[in-house]
Amino acid sequence: MTDDINWNDYTLETQAIRAGHRRTHEDEHSIPIFTTSSYVFKSAEEAALRFTGQKPGNIYSRFTNPTVSAFQERLALMEKGERCLAFSSGMAAIMAVGMGLLKAGDHVVCSRGVFGNTVLMFQNYFGKFGVTTDFVDLIDSAAWEAAIKPNTRFLFLETPSNPLTEIADISLLADIAHKHGCLLVVDNCFCTPALQKPLELGADIIVHSATKYIDGQGRCVGGAVVASDEIIEKHIYPYLRTGGSTMSPFNAWVFLSGLETLAIRMKAHCDNAFELARWLEKQTGVDKVHYPGLPSHAQHQLAARQQSHFGGIVSFELTGGKDHAWKLIDATALLSITANLGDVKTTITHPATTTHGRLTPEVRAAAGIKDGLVRLSVGLENIEDIKKDILRGL
Ligand SMILES: *Cc1c(COP(=O)(O)O)cnc(C)c1O
Repeated sequence: MTDDINWNDYTLETQAIRAGHRRTHEDEHSIPIFTTSSYVFKSAEEAALRFTGQKPGNIYSRFTNPTVSAFQERLALMEKGERCLAFSSGMAAIMAVGMGLLKAGDHVVCSRGVFGNTVLMFQNYFGKFGVTTDFVDLIDSAAWEAAIKPNTRFLFLETPSNPLTEIADISLLADIAHKHGCLLVVDNCFCTPALQKPLELGADIIVHSATKYIDGQGRCVGGAVVASDEIIEKHIYPYLRTGGSTMSPFNAWVFLSGLETLAIRMKAHCDNAFELARWLEKQTGVDKVHYPGLPSHAQHQLAARQQSHFGGIVSFELTGGKDHAWKLIDATALLSITANLGDVKTTITHPATTTHGRLTPEVRAAAGIKDGLVRLSVGLENIEDIKKDILRGL
């Protein structure tokens, strides 16, 4: 039945619930987990045709598994991309983009405000093999353009940024990238396709940490790359097949059910975060609140144009620096002290000593991560209970 439907004719909410499942002869309603490492062929000839790709079908679960394929198909549709490949983690997805697209002598321009491990990936690992990376201010489009060299392969960014929620103008940066023959890679972890569709805005490649909002309940680690059929086929799929940073079928099954509730969860995350951000702005001891939904946010208009809602991440600076930040975090009774985000449970973290702790103080300062900064990934508990918990340490 599902095989006959053109899922492009449906909206994201419906794709999220129904696309990707090819019902088997058992007539199951829910997607099964295919725990098999290999597949059998009807004949030696058929085996040969599948290995060369002349005949579609499963070969080996490092690169073909029906549960993982269902997740890939569903996420590709939701992102309005031609094709998606799943990976063992968000970092493995970013690694795959680099391994697939870069060679020694190439250059990358990356936002200074990206996930800490992404900075380390470009600096320490791709750097080791002769790829150079320049880091620029996410919101300074002139700096992006000035950093592009003849050997620049792609621009890489996250928007909103973590933890300061700065917003990059995806269309503008896509135009700049294309003008200079580069690709634009966007880490869409914080918005998910429920709030923002970077490919529609001109980006070429999306990377995801499925660990966050796609799972939504903090259970599994996984990642994904979404792009055109050509980019995936030429650059990403050969790396996955050889490099082997594969998503497990069990994790794909968890992420598939995560996608089913993504749109309504994201809306609820955004509503709670907006309310909390407005409330935090009125509290004494709070210097500054970073949330794209606030009119005080420097790129509020851009966020309103580019995203359908403002996201679930709120950060704020305390007047009392690190001591006050640690005191507030330790005074909470309900919130989880963890660096993870995108969970139904509200999490609280001190970026300067956790997610961004391995950066040098200079790099951290340049990224604007102050010692008094606290980041919240606002969950789906009752907003009054969340406020009450934060008040304990304010
Ligand atoms: C967590 C995160 C990653 C890395 O994902 P993992 O699944 O933890 O490997 C990459 N980008 C962003 C924005 C993240 O928050």
